[in-house]
Order: sequence, then structure tokens, then C-alpha cells
Amino acid sequence: MSAPDLALSVKVHADDNVAIVVNAKGARAGQVLADGTRLVENVPMGHKVALAAIKEGEPIRRYGEVIGHADRDIPKGACVTETLVRMPEAPDLARLSRVRRPIPETPPLEGYTFEGFRNPDGSVGVRNVLAISISVQCVAGVVAHVVERVKRELLPKYPNVDDVVALDHTYGCGVAINAPDAIVPIRTLRNLARNPNFGGEAMIIGLGCEKLVPEMLRSGPADPSAIVRLQDEAFTGFAAMVDGVIAQAIPRLERLNARRRETCPVSDLVIGVQCGGSDAFSGVTANPAVGFAADLIVRAGGAVMFSEVTEVRDAIHLLVERAADDGVADALIREMDWYDRYLARGSADRSANTSPGNKTGGLSNIVEKALGSVIKSGGSPIVDVLSPGERIRKKGMIFAATPASDFVCGTQQLASGIALQVFTTGRGTPYGLAAAPVVKVATNSALATRWFDLIDLDAGRIATGEASLETVGWELFHLILDVASGRKQVAADRLGLHNALALFNPGPVT
Ligand code: CA
Repeated sequence: MSAPDLALSVKVHADDNVAIVVNAKGARAGQVLADGTRLVENVPMGHKVALAAIKEGEPIRRYGEVIGHADRDIPKGACVTETLVRMPEAPDLARLSRVRRPIPETPPLEGYTFEGFRNPDGSVGVRNVLAISISVQCVAGVVAHVVERVKRELLPKYPNVDDVVALDHTYGCGVAINAPDAIVPIRTLRNLARNPNFGGEAMIIGLGCEKLVPEMLRSGPADPSAIVRLQDEAFTGFAAMVDGVIAQAIPRLERLNARRRETCPVSDLVIGVQCGGSDAFSGVTANPAVGFAADLIVRAGGAVMFSEVTEVRDAIHLLVERAADDGVADALIREMDWYDRYLARGSADRSANTSPGNKTGGLSNIVEKALGSVIKSGGSPIVDVLSPGERIRKKGMIFAATPASDFVCGTQQLASGIALQVFTTGRGTPYGLAAAPVVKVATNSALATRWFDLIDLDAGRIATGEASLETVGWELFHLILDVASGRKQVAADRLGLHNALALFNPGPVT
């Protein structure tokens, strides 16, 4: 008798009645999984196989949670495609249990440091960047010209300054500036300029007639940020305008250039995590590895933000039970409720999140995606909740409410104070941020191989058994410290791949 033709698969939880296929080329009908299940049809990589016969209406379980109910009878060994999974309702916020699960104390992690730029406000940056903020999109063309000139003519004279970045956006005028939701883009812009990678030296360029007056972008009366208005009568013509902005930039470049990296404990580090282009591996490889590294940073006293409201909405019960106190539990539910109503205004719900690529990658619905997504937040207690654009207040694991859209989440997390972002992807995205390094983690080795120069770490080795979750988690932790110290450059920075900033503006445009 010949040995069975085995296909590789991953079953996450003992209660699951599906597993996902790991083989890069998928598995064929007739192949057998580790538990003896024989495939009755071909199953692509990342897609689910029924490990038992599932009758119509019966629950389909992954991560030990119900991701849906069978739309019709599913035979054992069949591919559980999206159309076979009936999506359950999102957890009812009004009836959510507030009972908190005791989280075992973990010992502090000591002895790890990084080389960062310490700022006057106590925050620590991982890059030394001159930021030019704008109060309205009208000035963006002039600022782009200034940035180009600073890069060409001035940066070579200031070798310790890493870059000059325009904080470009489409807000500032033609908007209902007094509408209640305008607070979100306004505080986002104000806090963006205070990102730790800008050394407290961001400058503000305004036009002169816009609704968002540049003073509104200062953090307080003591904030000395330079403001230049292009309609200032002192400027005769374009060249004078550009010279006026550059005159303000020069003393800032000089001060930034005098700064040096210094050894800082990991407790000074603030990072963000998010995912984009997720697949069925996200929740078993890259996201758990990120969660493991995130817990290490929290144990070392640092701060980690996770976000993406529509991707945590269906797993909110798992987050509320990790809330450090009643205030955090209430705030988590409040942010979910706000976003439910925001989506309802647009006649949508959280199911609008999943993309065609998610589904091709094996994710049936937002419930399955959310369960895999929240694993990025590790297991630490959640100590604080930030509304969109609010600045970090505490160390530890923090939920920063943002849309899941990659560039919007990136922009909002920068405003909340991240110095570095970790980004997991299964389908692949060249996403990057000019203001902060983005460490890209692949969920599957097929992507890491094909995008060998775009991906920083291959977590797909967890699914194939080449490396343990702990091994990849520690690798990521060390990679984060190397990138934060300027010892390693991430792929997106090496290739110069940076997305435009994209503010979250839930308010009306006029
Ligand atoms: Ca995202």
C-alpha cells in the first residue's frame, strides 16, 4: 500500500470544523490532510476545507469562534467557499458582556534598547525629519516645490537630517469647519505635526483666506511653530514666496541637524500595527507573530497601537474582556457604536470592509477577517482607547480607533504618535509612509518569495512548519529595534515607496 498523498493544512483551534490549505499551489482532490480528511475537490491555497460534514444551518468554526453558518449541506473534505458561509450578525453592543477575563501578569522584559532621537516633549523619534504642515490644500503645489528645493539644495548640507516631508492633505477649506465631526480632521492635523519623528520642529504653511486658520494647528499658546501665509503682502511673486518658506526652514534644519541618536529603553518606543490585503493566513502566521512581538514591547514598557474599527467590530467581545478597567470597556463600545452609526449614514455596515482580494485569498467574510485581525493586538490588557486623531496618553496596548483603509489608518496612527508601523499583508501591497518606517510582514511564503525585495519578514514559515510563532515573533521584535535604531532600512524606504497621507474626515464637504 502506498503512503497517502498529504496536503499541508492549518487548524487553529481544537473546536474548529475547518482547516486552511497551506500548499502554495493549493491541494488536489484525493489528497489527505494530517487528520485523515480526504479532499473531495481541489482547494486553493488559503481556502478552507470541511473537516467534518456540516449540515445546512450548522455553525462553521474557525479560531474556536463561529464565522458563519452553512448555507447548504457541506460534505467532509469539500472546499468551504464564501457562498457556503452565511454571515452571522455582529455582536449586539447594547447586550455585550462587560465581564473581564483575568489576564495573567507577565514579567517585565528588561535589557532591550534602541537608538532614538529624544524630543523636548519627552517623546522619542526613530527618524529625524523636517515636516512641513499645511493648513489648506491650496498651498500644496508651492510646498511641493519647496520640498524639492530643500532636498536638492539644503539636505546635502545637513547630513543628520533624514528627510523633508510635506504633510499633504485635502482638508482646510470647502468644509463645514464648525460641524461636530470636524474635530476629527482638525485634531488629526494638529497632532500629525507633533509626530515624534519630526523633533518638535514642524512648520505650518497657510494661504490666508482658508477656514482652517493655521493657528488652529498649533498644539497650544506656547507652541512656537512657525507659520508662513502665502498671501502675506511681503511676498511679491512666486520666488519670494518660496524664499520666505525656505528662510523659516533653515533654522529648523540647523537645529534638527545638531541632534544625535541616543540609547533609549524600549519603554520609549511607540509603534502601530495594521494589516492590508489580508488572506486566510493573516490570522495564523503574520498577525499572531505581530501580536507576540507587540506583547514583548508592552512587557518592556513600550506602547503599541492597533486600530481598524471595521476589522475589530465582529471580535469586540474578545477585546472588551481584555479591557484594563470599566472606562476602557465603555470607550471600546463607544467607538464601535460611533462607527456603526457613521456607516449607517452611508447605508453600509461592517461587511463593506472585505475586498475581492480578501475573498480570493480565502477569507469568507468580515467575521473571519476580524477574528484573524485582532490577533495583532496580542494578549496584553488594553489600557486606553483613542478616538480618531487623539494623541497617545499611556504606555501599553492601546486601541486607536481608525478606519481600516490602509492609508487612512496610517495617517491617523501617525497623528496618534507612532514612530514606526508594522504592516502585515497576504495578498501584497507596496504601501509605505514617508514620515515613519513601515515594516512589512508577509503572511505566506509564496508572497515573500515573489516580492523578495518588497517584504521585510516572511511569517509564512509558521504555516509550513519551518519556524515557530515564537521564533518569528522574536525576529520581528529584533527587526523593529534595528529599524527604530536606523541600523536597518525597510523595503518601502529603500525603494522610496510612500503613500499620500489621507485624513479621516467624517464631516461634510461644502
Ligand atoms: Ca488596513
